[in-house]
Amino acid sequence: MYSIAIQQFLERTGYISVNPRAALIDMDGTLYDSMPRHANAWRQMMAEIGVDVPVNEFFRYEGRTGASTINILFQQAFGRKATESECKDLYRRKTEIFAAMPDVDTMPGAADMLDFMGQVGIRRVLVTGSGQSTLLDRLDKDYPGVFTPDMRVTSRDVTHGKPNPEPFIKAMEKACVKPWECFVVENAPLGIEAGHAADIFTIGVNTGPLDVRELEEAGADLVFESMPQFADALPVLIYGFLTRMNNPN
Ligand code: CA
Repeated sequence: MYSIAIQQFLERTGYISVNPRAALIDMDGTLYDSMPRHANAWRQMMAEIGVDVPVNEFFRYEGRTGASTINILFQQAFGRKATESECKDLYRRKTEIFAAMPDVDTMPGAADMLDFMGQVGIRRVLVTGSGQSTLLDRLDKDYPGVFTPDMRVTSRDVTHGKPNPEPFIKAMEKACVKPWECFVVENAPLGIEAGHAADIFTIGVNTGPLDVRELEEAGADLVFESMPQFADALPVLIYGFLTRMNNPN
């Protein structure tokens, strides 16, 4: 199973096989069901300055840094970029609104996915564009012992956020793996673009309102419709990688 997706990936990259030793895992929308809350916080912040933005729009910006999102919104609404102080104030306001909303839940299926990876010795690396402590501080409680401090890439570690491949390149350095020794787990088009650009096998899990096609068009090597579906499929996918590794022809 999944041999066609694996074959197409190998043809694209020129790798002989994928030996999955690390998983580079996104946080918002992947480990936490936090995206509706983020989208609503963004929407409310923009409404406060008199700009109405459809809520689904924010799922397309997911993965960008706060400043980058604000600049796109400003360009659309006012035909100019935001100033540095506007960026700072508006991002602070968005964070404030987000923090005041009810707690987000962990994503169903995420714990099963992480457990299986742990059982088969796949290193688990967090790769998030977020610097918001609201969720980062919860990781140890919700997923105890999974993400050690040296296995986390946050907005503090990178100059260029997703869709730039830099966050995943940093994650590979931290986990001491090459692109053919890991895979990416992402829910958002821009995160998928970043994984694809880093030449890593990129799995899109559609946990939000976008059409599956948007994840495919962003460059996902495989797309699943939910985290539980992906968690169930993961053993078969890993087996597919290993079978291909042992029988390269
Ligand atoms: Ca995400």
